[in-house]
Amino acid sequence: MSIVLAIILSAVAMTLIVGVRYLITSGAFAMATRARHPALYAGLDPQIRREIWWSLASAAIYGVPAGIVAWGWQNRGWTQIYEDVHAYPLWYLPLSVLLYLFAHDTWFYWTHRWMHEPRAFRIAHAVHHASRPPTAWAAMAFHPIEALTGAVVIPLLVFLIPIHVGALGLVLTIMTVMGVTNHMGWEIFPRFMWKGPVGAWLITASHHQRHHERYGCNYGLYFRFWDRLCGTDDGLGDFTRSHERSRARAAAGARGGNADRGGADRAA
Ligand SMILES: [Zn+2]
Ligand SMILES: [Zn+2]
Repeated sequence: MSIVLAIILSAVAMTLIVGVRYLITSGAFAMATRARHPALYAGLDPQIRREIWWSLASAAIYGVPAGIVAWGWQNRGWTQIYEDVHAYPLWYLPLSVLLYLFAHDTWFYWTHRWMHEPRAFRIAHAVHHASRPPTAWAAMAFHPIEALTGAVVIPLLVFLIPIHVGALGLVLTIMTVMGVTNHMGWEIFPRFMWKGPVGAWLITASHHQRHHERYGCNYGLYFRFWDRLCGTDDGLGDFTRSHERSRARAAAGARGGNADRGGADRAA
């Protein structure tokens, strides 16, 4: 098989993996949402359809660089990914995970701030903020330009920072779960992760919800470090109001009020 064909197949395979991973993870947390807050996504079907299409387009943009690098890792010894757990001291395993999360968080914070410049926002980031309120399906709902800025991070880091293949799997799992849960519209994690001394440094749904409400604050991905350092941390969002609105939408829907909602949308 020619090298070009092998690389294309690897990119296609990775696109499928990223797309299916998205559908399974977002689907599972959307089901959890339905069980816990049955009305939360009432009346949001058109928005959710949009979130899914943008996310699947992003899956291809994430899949191609990841697939190329995965091929090079397997066939040409590219990257610093290692499989022998003793190739580095064991204490390096958790450190490597933290290094990856911190590097990704740093990249995300600064590119996200840039995305809020008026021109970049209008061209690209408005797609992500069209989710009002976001749902579990919004995890990868990005314009292709924004998806590209996210897609290159891990494929670049694997050339720079050594990581065990299992630790890399953990990083990707954390990335996927936080991407979904941060947009879910309610807090699934225990209180210590978003309140108190630990929560003061971690980002979960309560923190990212406020970004979707107020825009010019809370730009981080995993940690509140950059937001706090740069004075852009605006505390935690409150789900009470969005939950009240969802109950109102559900009640309007139950009364056959879809026409009302259509009118409200046109007025907005
Ligand atoms: Zn978001
Ligand atoms: Zn934003």
